[in-house]
Amino acid sequence: MPRRFEGRILVIASHNTGKAREIGELLAPYRVQVVSAADLNLSEPPEDAEDFIGNALIKARAAARSSGLPALADDSGLAVHALDGAPGVRSARWAGPDRDFTLAMETVERALAGKADRGAHFVCVLALCWPDGHCETFEGTVHGRIAWPPRGRQGFGYDPIFVPAGHDSTFGEMAPAAKHAISHRADAFRQLVAACFAEVPDAS
Ligand code: IMP
Repeated sequence: MPRRFEGRILVIASHNTGKAREIGELLAPYRVQVVSAADLNLSEPPEDAEDFIGNALIKARAAARSSGLPALADDSGLAVHALDGAPGVRSARWAGPDRDFTLAMETVERALAGKADRGAHFVCVLALCWPDGHCETFEGTVHGRIAWPPRGRQGFGYDPIFVPAGHDSTFGEMAPAAKHAISHRADAFRQLVAACFAEVPDAS
């Protein structure tokens, strides 16, 4: 049985404002007060694992231990099929020290030049850890393809070049609610909420 989240305050173990905002929006229906690792001045541990689960656990464990509160970390990224899954766990690093995602998207497009397969998927692993070291993990995905040039100013990161399967718009062109209905993060959240959070009372 997964452990349930019974507290009131949840630390979001991320210094990425785009991600922290989306996590806050996804948790809005649950009676949870979220504070970010940046708000608490928690240091950022090195994300040196080779996979998404490993990195999510590093971040959630570190934040739970240093805050004394349950902490939720998201490790996510874009896996481009013709690039053997790159940038993958290095998705943030492809943007360089200035977190320049125009550069990161151009790097993807350059690497894809001449390749017929433009398929890709986003992965999101959520790790919820408690100060005693207990953790639960959940993995979500969304499949799609890489578009060029980038389109739209919503979202963050690689959103302007990702067209989810069955759609014509990029994530960058979609309203937040439309992205949240189908994204890798929403998929992982559905699993997290079903396993660890109390049901939301029916508002009707
Ligand atoms: P990390 O999980 O903090 O290592 O960073 C993951 C990186 O993957 C982010 O900085 C984004 O570049 C990318 N990424 C993850 N989720 C999304 C998303 O929903 N849209 C666009 N880019 C994303």
